[in-house]
Amino acid sequence: MNKESISGLILAGGRGTRMGHVDKGLQPFGGTTMAAQVLARLAPQVATVAINANRNLEAYAAYGVPVWPDDTPDYAGPLAGLQAGLRRCATTYLLTAPCDSPFLPEDLAGRLHDGLCAAGADLAVAVTEEDGRRQVHPVFCLLKASLEPVLSAYLDGGGRRMDGWYGQIKVAEVVFDDADAFRNINTPDELQRLDPAGSAAAPRLADVVSCLSAYDPDALPVRDAQRIIREFVAPVRAVDMVALRSALGRVLAEDIVSPIDVPSHDNSAMDGYALRGADLPADAPARLRVVGTAFAGRAYGGAVAPGECVRIMTGAVMPPGCDSVVPQEFVTTEDDVMVIAPGTIRAGDNRRLAGEDLKAGSPALRRGKIVRPADLGLLASLGVAEVPVGRRLRVAFFSTGDELRSIGQPLGEGCVYDSNRYTIYGMLQRLGCDLIDMGVVRDDPQALEQALRDACENADAIITSGGVSVGAADYTKQIMARLGDVTFWKIGMRPGRPLAFGRIHSNNRSAFLFGLPGNPVAVMVSFYFFARDALLRMMGADAPLPLMRARAAATIRKKPGRTEYQRGILTRDADGQPVVAVTGAQGSGILRSMSEANCMVVLHDEQGTVQAGDAVDVLLFDGLI
Ligand code: AMP
Ligand code: MG
Repeated sequence: MNKESISGLILAGGRGTRMGHVDKGLQPFGGTTMAAQVLARLAPQVATVAINANRNLEAYAAYGVPVWPDDTPDYAGPLAGLQAGLRRCATTYLLTAPCDSPFLPEDLAGRLHDGLCAAGADLAVAVTEEDGRRQVHPVFCLLKASLEPVLSAYLDGGGRRMDGWYGQIKVAEVVFDDADAFRNINTPDELQRLDPAGSAAAPRLADVVSCLSAYDPDALPVRDAQRIIREFVAPVRAVDMVALRSALGRVLAEDIVSPIDVPSHDNSAMDGYALRGADLPADAPARLRVVGTAFAGRAYGGAVAPGECVRIMTGAVMPPGCDSVVPQEFVTTEDDVMVIAPGTIRAGDNRRLAGEDLKAGSPALRRGKIVRPADLGLLASLGVAEVPVGRRLRVAFFSTGDELRSIGQPLGEGCVYDSNRYTIYGMLQRLGCDLIDMGVVRDDPQALEQALRDACENADAIITSGGVSVGAADYTKQIMARLGDVTFWKIGMRPGRPLAFGRIHSNNRSAFLFGLPGNPVAVMVSFYFFARDALLRMMGADAPLPLMRARAAATIRKKPGRTEYQRGILTRDADGQPVVAVTGAQGSGILRSMSEANCMVVLHDEQGTVQAGDAVDVLLFDGLI
């Protein structure tokens, strides 16, 4: 085989539907991305490689290869990519491989070429046999570039199927032994599981728990529960490239390195006169001739000789030779002469240096940061139009309980309206998750199992409320446990003792499960102090709870040995210092106290009764994303 006769084409133009509509080729894998892995395998086998992509063309171009979008519109499938490749192919043959096959054979080109020549075929396609099942891999093929008109005619006639077009040409099937080499990565779970650079295997709860010195699931300190959860959850590593504005509230998936110096030129920090510092005598007024004007965005084009100066506006580029700016209010002018008193400024004053805010090549923002308005502005100042952010986390949630009624239904005897669904909705929405609201699920084994399976197959995380306390119907816990690695805790806290946590599986998909208690206040407390951190971690964000300190307005009774979360109202005292008072009734079902509060007072395990004036930790609701 002469590799100079073959061009390689990586097919990366799909929608990535099963991956959650992210651009598959750009997903992190093996320390780089899937497309980079395929490129590294393909490049040694062929003369040149190009990438067929329909999104994020610049990101692909960064691999230093040509990037060709489909000519046929509307994501017409791999054949459209093939067409784009054939039309631009400058060699006799084109070899294709999909962007999600990082394990492709190192002798793919050679074997397909031999098969094609031996059979006198137009196209050779890879085939494997696994458990006696013959599997054709249509996107791993070598074909003659001269087939372009046949393919274009097929596409123009509305044809989209690989096998349809194979019917019109002579195809040779080439059998490969190593089926694993053709493995595609289609789902987030596969990405996680198969990535050699990822955490090898997901940990088991038993392993995580075994690291704790004294573990008692029936009396677990808050701190330990938080730690176990933190170690057990894994980030969803899929990446979206989004337009700058859409990055607001999302989590940066990579460091953003500044492509330019900011500011890009030395410029003036004031409206005034740009001059040479050497022209400033120490003890006499300087008289400098004004030779022109520099505006922001319109530089002064001429030269500035000693004894001259330039009228300059804030942000205007410093004229050549000038290194200082004197503000206009400090000088007098006589016709075209500017007079400045001795000692008014020093050489170098009021000049902003190029790269002073940020040097080209230095990180402007770190991965893991949640993008705020200031970050949008900073990225814009760098000219960054697209931002790599973590894929939105998909979270499914439902309430359990036969007594629950949804809004709009009549409230029968002993029934309550389902409020948890709304508080959970609100808290998840604030975190920027994609939500799957599954409503109320009855206390019924089949209904519960079905709901958990549906949630697991469609979401990264599941939040349920109710059914995990001691008195609750046993099968909630049984079913959760049967579907995966789930543990049930009684946590040393008030409110919200019971909590189910783990990972469940259904149909090859998995999701982290947070079984929160049913009491409306307990739900919120457990969400904020356990689920929130875990969900942010799954998003790749680094955002610890924003606790602050305030003085207690009055005595707060508290027993050591458990963590208490009391609803509080934070204000300022006469000196402007933060002071917190707890709201009245603290029952775990009294949502009104949560609504009236603007913060929670966090009284830690070892803490006893707090005296008026003592400092306590508080968590403000506003700003809690
Ligand atoms: P459970 O944990 O299922 O025993 O529920 C504890 C308490 O919380 C019971 O009084 C339930 O009626 C109440 N509860 C459970 N789920 C909800 C919900 N979604 N909305 C309002 N109250 C609830
Ligand atoms: Mg219940």
